Formats: sequence, C-alpha cells, structure tokens
Amino acid sequence: MTDNDTIITIDGPSGSGKSTISRELARRLNYTYLDTGAMYRAVGLLAKRRNVAVDDEEQISSLLTDLDLKLLPGKDDTRVLLEHEDVSAAIRTSEMGMAASAVSALPLVRKKLTRLQQEIGRQGAVVAEGRDTGTVVFPQARYKFYLDASPEERARRRSRQLQEKGQPVDERKIFQQLIKRDHDDSSRSIAPLTAANDAIHINSSRMTVDEVLNFMMKQLAKNKKSVQNKKEIT
Ligand code: C5P
Repeated sequence: MTDNDTIITIDGPSGSGKSTISRELARRLNYTYLDTGAMYRAVGLLAKRRNVAVDDEEQISSLLTDLDLKLLPGKDDTRVLLEHEDVSAAIRTSEMGMAASAVSALPLVRKKLTRLQQEIGRQGAVVAEGRDTGTVVFPQARYKFYLDASPEERARRRSRQLQEKGQPVDERKIFQQLIKRDHDDSSRSIAPLTAANDAIHINSSRMTVDEVLNFMMKQLAKNKKSVQNKKEIT
C-alpha cells in the first residue's frame, strides 16, 4: 500500500458540509484531518493584522517567507496556531472567509500552502478538505469526493454554524457572500474550485451527516474490494 492509498480528498463549495464530514470521517478512520481552508484563512488574518491589502501579492509573499503556521487536531475544529497564537476562533468569521478567498487567488500563496499541505500528506492516512485537494494538492489520491448542496441549504448551514459560535448572523448577507465566494473560487485562473474527473459526487442537500458518512464508508470499502479482486485476478 502506498501513501496515496490512504489519502482521501473532499472538495466542494463553502457550506457544503465538508468540514463536519471530513473531521468525522478522519475520526472514524483514525486519520489526520487536514483543513486546507484554515490555512488560507490564517494567511488572510495575517494580512489584515499587518495592514497588507489582500490582493497585494508582493507584500503578502514577503509575509509568507517565514510563515509560522501550525495545524493541530482539536476537539471540534482544527486548532490553528499563527506565530504561536491560537487563532482558531479569529479565523472562523465571514470576514476571514472573504479574506481567505482573496489571498487564495494569489499564485505565490497557493504555491506555498500547497507545498505545506503536500508535506503533511506525505505521512499518509489523511483526510484533506478544500477546493483543490483532489485536483492540485493530491491528484494521485486514491479516494476523492466532491461534496455539494444547494446554495440556500449551504447558506442556512453557514448561518447556523456562526450562530452556534455566538457570532451575529445576517442570513441574506451570508447568502450573498456565499454566492460571491462560489463565483470567485470557481472562476480564478489558478486551482479553481472544480471536481476532479475521478471524484465521486455527493449532493448533500437532503442528506444527514450520517447518511453522507455511511455512503462514503461504503464507497471506500467497495473501492478496496475492487483492488483486492484485481490483485486476485492477475
Ligand atoms: O473552506 P473554507 O471556507 O475555510 O475556505 C476559505 C477560503 O479559502 C475559500 O473560500 C477558498 O477561497 C480558499 N481555499 C482555497 N483552496 C483550498 C481551501 C480553501 O482556495 N484548498
């Protein structure tokens, strides 16, 4: 078994349920959960804190030269340490979602974060979630999923998540931000949000978390079996 056999990628638009599903799948399999969006959010936060415009590639690149960013598995979300400070809560706001989307369109930012993600993947046994994990970061991954849901359902989920974190919620604004992020993430020229050709598509609009997870577990088991069968035949 190679490392690629134990890499699972889950891509999809914001609010499609990727984080909840990926975290739980990783827990069931005892894999590492790699939240790539958290890394883009942390870079967005860093830019804001240093008063650097989120589209100023040159200045942001210089911030990245000695980026001190660590991801630690947490009970609910991934704990994110930026320069030793726990910024896990600070990055989970709508504003940081938009900042992350802006910095994520910069080629040098993508290059740096993609490399860091691949380093984490090298150890294998990883569930990676994001926008390009199946297409760019781990194109060789054996198991790929593309998770989607209707924009209305995704906005509802996002609003609920923010409410649970005690943040003020304007559902209409969240819906509009989500549509803008979808558009920006899908239309950028580098590593746009798109399903890998070999990804299994799941529309979770009317599915519970457990239903999605059970479906995924079945797909993983099926896939494993077909490899074993192939080996038996040859
Ligand atoms: O998934 P999350 O909402 O935390 O991602 C924040 C933003 O980071 C996304 O809207 C997207 O622009 C960017 N991102 C990305 N590639 C990834 C993960 C996230 O461009 N692999």
